[in-house]
Amino acid sequence: MRAGSIAVVGGSIAGCAAALAAARGGAGRIVVLERTGAQLRDRGVGIGLHGDRYEELRAAGYLTPEMPWAPLSRRVWSVRDGEEPRGRPVGEQPFPFRAYNWGSLWRELRSRVPEGVDYRAGAEVTEVEPDADGVTLRLADGSHEHFDVVIGADGYRSVVREAMFPGTGAAYSGYIGWRGTSSDVADLPSDGDHACTVVFPGGHCMIYRIPDGFGGHRLNWVLYTRPPRSDGLHPDLRTPASLPPGRLSSQLTGHLRALVADNFPPYWAAKVLGTPADTTFIQPIYDVEVPHYASGRLVLIGDAASVARPHIGGGSVKALQDATALEAALSTRESWEEALEAYDAERGPIGSAMVALARRMGGAQVENTPDWSAMGQPEFDMWWQAQNEGSDGNSGFGGHALKGRR
Ligand SMILES: Cc1cc2nc3c(=O)[nH]c(=O)nc-3n(C[C@H](O)[C@H](O)[C@H](O)COP(=O)(O)OP(=O)(O)OC[C@H]3O[C@@H](n4cnc5c(N)ncnc54)[C@H](O)[C@@H]3O)c2cc1C
Repeated sequence: MRAGSIAVVGGSIAGCAAALAAARGGAGRIVVLERTGAQLRDRGVGIGLHGDRYEELRAAGYLTPEMPWAPLSRRVWSVRDGEEPRGRPVGEQPFPFRAYNWGSLWRELRSRVPEGVDYRAGAEVTEVEPDADGVTLRLADGSHEHFDVVIGADGYRSVVREAMFPGTGAAYSGYIGWRGTSSDVADLPSDGDHACTVVFPGGHCMIYRIPDGFGGHRLNWVLYTRPPRSDGLHPDLRTPASLPPGRLSSQLTGHLRALVADNFPPYWAAKVLGTPADTTFIQPIYDVEVPHYASGRLVLIGDAASVARPHIGGGSVKALQDATALEAALSTRESWEEALEAYDAERGPIGSAMVALARRMGGAQVENTPDWSAMGQPEFDMWWQAQNEGSDGNSGFGGHALKGRR
């Protein structure tokens, strides 16, 4: 396999990690094809990584201490309580996470892609044609190229996945994440060491501090709820896609702002409602599952392979773990087929388990919320435990433990 060629479709978090895995796995020629021109747009939003998962990925050489992060220690779930500024806590739990900024995490991963890798920005793959000894990729500019193996790191609307398993598209959960960031980090409880979750009938909002990538911090929040059922919504919400800043309909933002004003404790309402409109956007929430992570000479990684709803806090962890597993399989197996089968056997079941747990969490935290205002710590603990039911000690929240292999 050492002389072989690998193309990675998509150059985001999973794509950069896949290029690193392919290089360490011994591929002779590696090309990354990323449709976005120049730098990927800095989404600026937060990514939470569980501390234990970070340590495993650091030991595996995919994350480094230099990547800017902000520590989180506890998660406090609060409900509005009249005019009490920060509301009433209904439950608290340990939250040993590291908060990253998507942009600086991507830039660090991009800088770890070995120099010999040909990273082509502005290269959109339009067709994926497998044959007996490899795969031909056709690009939007009319060119085509043949590779021994193609890794699909092209996110939830993957063209590689569609070539492998036609029709296994992203399934809309029925609700959205409204996300935003602001510079208003003054005066945060516990000096920003706590993640706050504001709860309300029909959803919740997670608020925490992230690095700004320049030595300071930003406030990051994501609110999950069903959009209003009305015909006036942006058509994208009926065939879900991300709505970037500036494309939110005034009707939808009006609905979300009213929801915050009515349901959030005053302190958190001011933080969210004070967020500049140009840093807010909407991401419909999906489930993606595949029968296998590999088929012939095609293989999937990150969100292209499976998407678990974000309540699990483990999508980036899963993408990076997928890469470590791919590296191990490429390094230790004799043929492409054996390597890709071994990768599928290891990562497929974990992807499915994460989707299932995240679906249960979405059910409990958005679709069928409890009467939060009647809850205290004991009721909260039972409610949380019920979502994690059926799992072993390693529930999968924040991502599953990485199998030791080094
Ligand atoms: C609301 C929300 C909150 C989240 N919070 C967390 C969190 O706290 N912790 C966490 O670990 N994860 C979180 N995640 C998940 C995390 O963002 C992703 O799982 C992770 O970034 C992996 O993404 P990816 O690289 O697989 O896909 P993407 O980032 O979607 O990248 C796919 C890339 O492929 C490119 N591409 C697509 N099609 C083509 C094509 N045809 N040709 C060429 N290029 C193409 C795209 O331009 C893009 O750059 C969250 C997700 C959401 C929606």
